[in-house]
Amino acid sequence: MKNLSKDLQQELADQYDISYGEVKLDKLSDDQTRKFLIGFNTQQDPRAIVETVIIPEQRRSTLCVSSQIGCSLKCKFCHTGTQQLERNLTSGEIVGQYMIAAHTTHDFESSNNKKTISNMVFMGQGEPLYNWRQLQKAIHILTHEQGLHLTKSKVTVSTSGVAPLIPKLASDLGGVSLAISLHATNNSLRDILVPLNKTYSLETVLEACRTYAAHMGIKRGRGKRITFEYVMLDKTVQSMAWKWIQVNRNASY
Ligand code: SF4
Repeated sequence: MKNLSKDLQQELADQYDISYGEVKLDKLSDDQTRKFLIGFNTQQDPRAIVETVIIPEQRRSTLCVSSQIGCSLKCKFCHTGTQQLERNLTSGEIVGQYMIAAHTTHDFESSNNKKTISNMVFMGQGEPLYNWRQLQKAIHILTHEQGLHLTKSKVTVSTSGVAPLIPKLASDLGGVSLAISLHATNNSLRDILVPLNKTYSLETVLEACRTYAAHMGIKRGRGKRITFEYVMLDKTVQSMAWKWIQVNRNASY
């Protein structure tokens, strides 16, 4: 900014950091899925790298962002679940992932109906509801009319089932969409695939979903909905899980 004095420029540089993060990898797959690895101050912390992905579909493109570096939950089918939780991302680092993706796709130069990124989902590394404060701030910046002004209903928070905070997505962040990483429809199998289920069972998560739905005015057959996500598991993983249930059931008799 040439209209600021050198002293002020220096002072701003010393006091504030306005970098969005550093793109370590930008890879386009054959199906046009675009994956970024984004680093945050990696000179000090080489492990501070997260994944951000643009997923193209026929009528929309969804930006999938991370909320933590690593994850404390250990979902059986997830690579991040094999890593330690390093730290929560700041709201700036969450918004930075959108800024990098939107700059890369030239969305800031395009009119609203020509933008590449139409939707956003918190489904990258980490459990977003375990980083509630920064998530809240980031969504505020992303959706505020003086911020990035994204449509709230097009921003989805995907959770593995942190039941106490699910209703707050409606009451404190009204209008944000909800997705549940379900992956199993009974507690015995879900306890293994998504170990958080031992803390918040399917019944507890579904009750929290009902409260969210009531706040949001979601009614059967109307436009708004809660998404339930399901991974298609390889037979080996499933049979290992069932074997585990069998062994433990037998052991408890
Ligand atoms: S909560 Fe998400 S990131 Fe964490 S282990 Fe489960 S699927 Fe992976």
